[in-house]
Amino acid sequence: MSQPLIDLRTTLHGGRSLFAMQPIAPGTIIFACEAPFAHVICKDYRREVCAQCFAYAASNSRNIGDPRTWSIRSRRETAESAWFCTDGCKIAWESGVTGPMIADVNALLAKAKMATRRQPKDGHLGYDPILPNGSTAQITQHQIDKAWADAEEFVSSRARLSSYCSTMNLEDMELEISRLVASAIVQRYVFDHGLANLAVSSIISTSNPWAEFLGLQSSELSNVRMRPYIFAAHLRLYAFLCHSLPQHLKPYASMVRGVLARDTGNAFGIWDGDSKDEMLGWGLWVGASYFNHSCYPNVKKARVGRTMHFTTTRSVETGEELCISYIDHDQTITQRRQELEDSWFFECRCQRCQSEKSDGCVH
Ligand SMILES: [Zn+2]
Ligand SMILES: [Zn+2]
Repeated sequence: MSQPLIDLRTTLHGGRSLFAMQPIAPGTIIFACEAPFAHVICKDYRREVCAQCFAYAASNSRNIGDPRTWSIRSRRETAESAWFCTDGCKIAWESGVTGPMIADVNALLAKAKMATRRQPKDGHLGYDPILPNGSTAQITQHQIDKAWADAEEFVSSRARLSSYCSTMNLEDMELEISRLVASAIVQRYVFDHGLANLAVSSIISTSNPWAEFLGLQSSELSNVRMRPYIFAAHLRLYAFLCHSLPQHLKPYASMVRGVLARDTGNAFGIWDGDSKDEMLGWGLWVGASYFNHSCYPNVKKARVGRTMHFTTTRSVETGEELCISYIDHDQTITQRRQELEDSWFFECRCQRCQSEKSDGCVH
């Protein structure tokens, strides 16, 4: 057996990271992550993005005022419509299990959201997460656990839940996040019931995509401390999903917290192209999250259809850590640090940051 190119190892600072097992030439595809475990194409872009390969219709037509949409459409009464760039993509999507099942769930969620909107705005039922007073930096894991336990207790009464959901006024962004979570729930359901062979990344040994997903770093505490309002939205959409998921998926509602805890800090945007003018949606490619960040990366990622490809940008020595850049690394050290801290919750200690810091080059 030939020596593998890369290996996932635990690093000195505790996290996991990918390392080269042999010298690798520049331009080598070292890893391809087949499909996102969870993803969402934002509602406004659904007609413009191929549901199978995420191709963006307008990328060949930049005429202002002439937004292009795909014309090939899959339409079933029970499902949300899906649009495709080619008949081939439509056939591939319709012959799969996950895509149509996600479309069914999305139709239910859209309907449930409409029901929340029809109600008058007042009449709150008092289900709001109890956020601790004082500085949000003081929020503890215990308080977050307690808020989730309260939410679980709250949804255990069907009458209370349905009454709450009829007056909650779910916001558009909350629906998008609900759709993301629902796609993960469908993936797990499909796997648990042996309905399809899911593509699992080959870097680690587990063959269970949900277990692999849970292995990703959770950023729950940092995220809640930085954005307590998002925590409130998370608890609301948990109630919404408990209420709106179809019967066979309801047992999976306990996944909501785990998915949300890993969304921020692991998700990659689905962009219109290299120019990154528009973010069409976002997704969680589990294997992709094993790549750590460096401001002087030796690997670049590129989405090819649903697949995420990782290619070396220069020669890599045996034992060298393989890193991508999570951000625009042409920025100054100050801008890079800010963005990494806000969106990825860490302070970058890559070699470039260390040397720029010691140079006093902090602008
Ligand atoms: Zn397509
Ligand atoms: Zn850095």
